[in-house]
Amino acid sequence: MGRLLKFLQKLAFLGQDHRYKALERDEVETLIDDQCELKAIEREKTVTALPPREACKCSKEDLARAFHVDLDSGLSEMAVAQRRLVHGWNEFVTDNAEPVWKKYLDQFKNPLILLLLGSAMVSVLTKEYEDAISIALAVLIVVTVGFIQEYRSEKSLEELTKLVPPECNCLRNGKLQHMLARDLVPGDIVSLSIGDRIPADIRLTEVTDLLVDESSFTGEVEPCSKTDSPLVGSSGDLSTLSNVVFMGTLVQCGKGQGVVIGTGEQSQFGEVFKMMQAEETPKTPLQKSMDRLGKQLTIFSFGIIGLLMLVGWIQGKPLLSMFTIGVSLAVAAIPEGLPIVVMVTLVLGVLRMAKKRVIVKKLPIVETLGCCNVICSDKTGTLTANEMTATQLVTSDGFHAEVSGVGYSGEGTVYLLPSKEVIKGFSNVSVGKLVEAGCVANNAVIRKNTVMGQPTEGALIVLAMKMNLGGIKDSYTRRKEIPFSSEQKWMAVRCSPKNEEQEDVYFMKGAFEEVIHHCSMYNNGGIPLPLTPQQKSYWQQEEKKMGSLGLRVLALASGPELGRLTFLGLVGIIDPPRAGVKEAVRVLSESGVSVKMVTGDALETAMAIGRTIGLCHEKLKAMSGEEVEGMEQDALAARVRQVSIFFRTSPKHKVKIIKALQESGAIVAMTGDGVNDSVALKSADIGIAMGQTGTDVSKEAANMILVDDDFSTIMSAVEEGKGIFYNIKNFVRFQLSTSIAALSLITLSTVCNLPSPLNAMQILWVNIIMDGPPAQSLGVEPVDRDALRRPPRSVRDTILNRALILKVLMSAAVIIGGTLFIFWREIPENGTSTPRTTTMAFTCFVFFDLFNALSCRSQTKLIFEIGFFRNRMFLYSVLGSLLGQLAVIYAPPLQRVFQTENLRALDLLLLAGLASSVFFLSELLKLCERFCSRGKTPQTFPGAM
Ligand code: ATP
Repeated sequence: MGRLLKFLQKLAFLGQDHRYKALERDEVETLIDDQCELKAIEREKTVTALPPREACKCSKEDLARAFHVDLDSGLSEMAVAQRRLVHGWNEFVTDNAEPVWKKYLDQFKNPLILLLLGSAMVSVLTKEYEDAISIALAVLIVVTVGFIQEYRSEKSLEELTKLVPPECNCLRNGKLQHMLARDLVPGDIVSLSIGDRIPADIRLTEVTDLLVDESSFTGEVEPCSKTDSPLVGSSGDLSTLSNVVFMGTLVQCGKGQGVVIGTGEQSQFGEVFKMMQAEETPKTPLQKSMDRLGKQLTIFSFGIIGLLMLVGWIQGKPLLSMFTIGVSLAVAAIPEGLPIVVMVTLVLGVLRMAKKRVIVKKLPIVETLGCCNVICSDKTGTLTANEMTATQLVTSDGFHAEVSGVGYSGEGTVYLLPSKEVIKGFSNVSVGKLVEAGCVANNAVIRKNTVMGQPTEGALIVLAMKMNLGGIKDSYTRRKEIPFSSEQKWMAVRCSPKNEEQEDVYFMKGAFEEVIHHCSMYNNGGIPLPLTPQQKSYWQQEEKKMGSLGLRVLALASGPELGRLTFLGLVGIIDPPRAGVKEAVRVLSESGVSVKMVTGDALETAMAIGRTIGLCHEKLKAMSGEEVEGMEQDALAARVRQVSIFFRTSPKHKVKIIKALQESGAIVAMTGDGVNDSVALKSADIGIAMGQTGTDVSKEAANMILVDDDFSTIMSAVEEGKGIFYNIKNFVRFQLSTSIAALSLITLSTVCNLPSPLNAMQILWVNIIMDGPPAQSLGVEPVDRDALRRPPRSVRDTILNRALILKVLMSAAVIIGGTLFIFWREIPENGTSTPRTTTMAFTCFVFFDLFNALSCRSQTKLIFEIGFFRNRMFLYSVLGSLLGQLAVIYAPPLQRVFQTENLRALDLLLLAGLASSVFFLSELLKLCERFCSRGKTPQTFPGAM
């Protein structure tokens, strides 16, 4: 553009000079080019999304024309940039249209707040202006605290939605690129494969056996078969548009490619999204129980407060002041912050987990994590590193070879054993044929020392590269592929040799017992000979030998047709265990979580890996997928606890295993990555998908995603899950004890016909401490390292169990006793309360509360064990509350609002000393509990060590 402008200026200048004929040829070309560029930019702006009902009728050519796109190379970056200006990002803007001030004002809709404001109004009418100002100020503070809490929880919930951005494969500038789905614009060419989540509305231009699960969109459970040809006379119903796929639906099977016809709000998913937005996020069981508790406490508090006012009235106390105290007490005693803090604590936990590379998609899972007592994990890629290297070969005519070099660089050598002779190409025909089959029946590509595709297949390509056979695939034209699946455990391709007039040949690779099933011959130095049962059992022994070294074993064969193949030999592939897995398995087992391996590999391989990661102990039992299938559900439920390794399994076995474990009382976490794993992921209490190797389908079905596929991160999640529960417990204990103490204090003094130890303003101040920062900071207490060692919680365990209620009552009793004592001590002889009396009682209560918060930081550990400075938030908020309290006592304007007066340093010391008793008593109780529970072993789930 800059060039064009300069050129136009030059042209104008030349025109003025009447020397424009002096234009040079290349300058004219530049001008034309630039004008084309301008036109192209203008044209890009005219590209619009195409409604599916129109797009379905277009031919491929019409489509390419409508979107100005080359179907073979995709859009250019310039086109993308222009289209983005018009169409924006492929995402939905959450409807946060409600302005902040409106949300703030909404807080005033609380009936209690309205009542308080009402009492302020009455104070104005009765000319008690100071009271009116005080109440209004307090209401303002209470409302602001509530607003900040809610705003924070909303913001953190928003963060949750950003954790798993969808991705896609898109053709741009002639290159297939992996990118965020958000980057797509209309006209982009998207490539789809099995397990993908469809990133935008797409009109298909190429399909191979494409089946799409549109249940999220149409509600239809059966996957729809898709085509790429134009539709004529379509009924117009979106579900009948077989050449269009819609955003948010899932590829169940096959492959496809197509042009993006609608993104973001212009996609059909936009409607569904708007509906989803209207729906409230379902509450977790914990949130629900907190809601219930809140309601019960509200009814209880109202009952008591009603009674209080009645007694006060009978005693002849001023009605307005009784009313204000009553309402303030209601504000303070009703823990309206409880459900919010529970949610904030859960969400913050989820965000902390995200930092540890675990994405929790649904909040209730955080709670379930702390109850989980069985983790069933895939082997490949989760317990192991998924860095596959072929290390051993055995040919069908008995040659053994060894491979050096690790990783996907292709550096290394294949040696014949025992001679150590180096093998290149077909220098040994049998080895050459074996490696050739592995390389041709293969879909992986090695690029820049990394594998694109399955690592198992990558290992076979690297093996071929080490023998200079990396390009052997190009000597064949692939005619057909029978793809690999975990159920089938083999894959095969039919190819025609390029240079020779030969018949088509099949190459097959897969699990030994499956491949041998299709073989009738074996290769003997290039000559096929009939395969005998003795040989089969000999090869089975060889396979077992390789497996017991922890190698994944692949059998290879080739031949004219399936069932008449020639067995070529075996390749052993090493996949080392992940770093940290052994430690994670140990820690989990010690804390009562039983880890089970569920693998498609053979028994020997599974056992060898199980042994290295410490999964196997004396009682170890293994069970095959076949056995799982053959057993009755009840019988399986009775045995399943003792089994540590499930081998040669397929996804359908996973479901049966989960059901059996659940029947036996377990709370099961199960990992999965494939399309077919989604049923298992949904049936498990915690379905865990793999972030890197997992399909979008599995991620959709799961409620948790391991970003790095690393098993050890499950341990961190379980740890967080347990920690969060304990934090919520701490928080509930603090809130309830304060609330009960405040309520009882006023009740007792009223019943005993004493003046009220706290006035309305002071009660509201206590409420701010109770609901505000100190309470909230209890929810972010760092996870106790020992939390993981504790056995999983029972699902039936409630937060408010007997032990907690006792602790709450104890703290409340100490607070009430202490405050009443100070009140009684400070009350003058004439029995009327002075500002000093209430100031002392009020400060005493607040100090008690802060010490109580300190003791609530842990239910079991002493303060020096958890570390006084570990929860910075807590320290800051307690310090803030303390300074606030001093301001309330000493700052003259606040003194007027709170009706307080200066206290002496000695008074403060006395109050602090007395208030610390609630803390020391609680610490003592922890020691006693520890002493009593010594010798009791934690209950663990059978199967855990
Ligand atoms: P894990 O549970 O350990 O992650 P899995 O259940 O995913 O493993 P599969 O990938 O289903 O196991 O593999 C089962 C068997 O299928 C392997 O032991 C191997 O023999 C064979 N196999 C694995 N990948 C391929 C492939 N790409 N082509 C042919 N056969 C394969």
